Amino acid sequence: MPRLKALARLMKDLEDQVVVCMRCGLCQSVCPMFAQTGREADLARGKLALLDGLMQELLQDPKGVQDRLTRCLLCGACAANCPSGVKALDIFIKARAILAGYLGLSPVKKAVFRQMLAHPDIFNRILSWGARFQGIFIKPVDDLLGSSCSRFLSPLLQKRHFKALAPVSFIQRAGLRHTPAGGRGLKAALFVGCLVDKVFTPVGDAALKVLERRGMGVFMPEPQGCCGIPALSSGDTVAFDKLVRHNLKVFGSQEFDYLVTPCATCTSTITKVWPLMAQEYPEEKQIQIARLAAKTLDINQFLVDQVGLEAGKDEGAASILLTYHDPCHLKKSLGVAAQPRALIRANPRYRLQEMAEADWCCGSGGSFSLQHYEISAAIGRRKLENIRKSGAAVVATGCPGCMMQLVDMISQAGAGVQVRHVLEIYAEGLD
Ligand code: SF4
Ligand code: SF4
Repeated sequence: MPRLKALARLMKDLEDQVVVCMRCGLCQSVCPMFAQTGREADLARGKLALLDGLMQELLQDPKGVQDRLTRCLLCGACAANCPSGVKALDIFIKARAILAGYLGLSPVKKAVFRQMLAHPDIFNRILSWGARFQGIFIKPVDDLLGSSCSRFLSPLLQKRHFKALAPVSFIQRAGLRHTPAGGRGLKAALFVGCLVDKVFTPVGDAALKVLERRGMGVFMPEPQGCCGIPALSSGDTVAFDKLVRHNLKVFGSQEFDYLVTPCATCTSTITKVWPLMAQEYPEEKQIQIARLAAKTLDINQFLVDQVGLEAGKDEGAASILLTYHDPCHLKKSLGVAAQPRALIRANPRYRLQEMAEADWCCGSGGSFSLQHYEISAAIGRRKLENIRKSGAAVVATGCPGCMMQLVDMISQAGAGVQVRHVLEIYAEGLD
């Protein structure tokens, strides 16, 4: 009974936000989930209607409510296009946390989030072992993309193609940084993000190269933790909370002007989700989070708006056709779309060819693709078609989560298109 009372209190908080939805249905045309399934229940309007009667539904079918809430990419297209300003993402994230608190997490998720992810030292050690022995379980499939697939039938990997773990993590290889503010009088802290640190390590090299070449002092400490969004997307506030506190400690130990990250999801989590969830924290922690969030920027935005572009060396006509995919967490969540394109154009070796629906979700949705791979892949194939039609030899983007999904789609289709981060393109032009 006390649990039900606590739940009822939390529900009340959500109620005020849910009633703002006037059921106009304008979110229908922008929702990648609805476009794929055609189900009203998958639309923001459908989920909000569900949450409106949540207490009632919970008593009857709590697991059913939870399952319906997981059928969402958390892409933010509904919130970005809602005329009533419904903060659908905030509502869905909180509702998942409430439901997981009520129903409990599965033992597997508990072990992964609370015993591994929430302890960066342990997480790093496990993945470093994983990198050594992964060859037993996976085999390379596409040289151009550097992708692999599973050697055996695996319920987790299914038929996915993916980038394997790097032999050595980026931070371990590059070493820590703690250099004074450079010629521009600016010092940037680099929040690397798990996927860049452990899989797309050349993106980390490009970030460091660009920051140092542009005269920044750099603070890159260890052990950096995950931003916490994989745990929170599953409703695990315990692991999320541990990671926020860990990162506050690591990055709060030094002065710097900006915290920058090459991962759109990490940027959006630190600037939007940390303050959202901080409402339950003691005041002193809320202030620390607000301060860090206020000086956190996507690295593309930082380079263009705060530092200024350096034009790459011109070696004749732009010969490589490149197209750009807007990550949801960059464009819809943070409004960053012009800056990555400006960085691409600064490298004269490439010609930017816009694809149709550049800002349509790629279907990744983080842990969504683990739970709903078939829907995720179907959404991804729409993106793949648009990439193909652009005729580009390279697709660039600003989020390693999107890069993982694009590698999967392109590699499975044998489409012969390279997947790069915008920073890699910009950094290459500075040589
Ligand atoms: S979430 Fe916004 S766009 Fe969607 S039905 Fe409600 S008010 Fe309309
Ligand atoms: S966040 Fe994206 S997938 Fe989820 S309901 Fe909104 S538009 Fe649809």
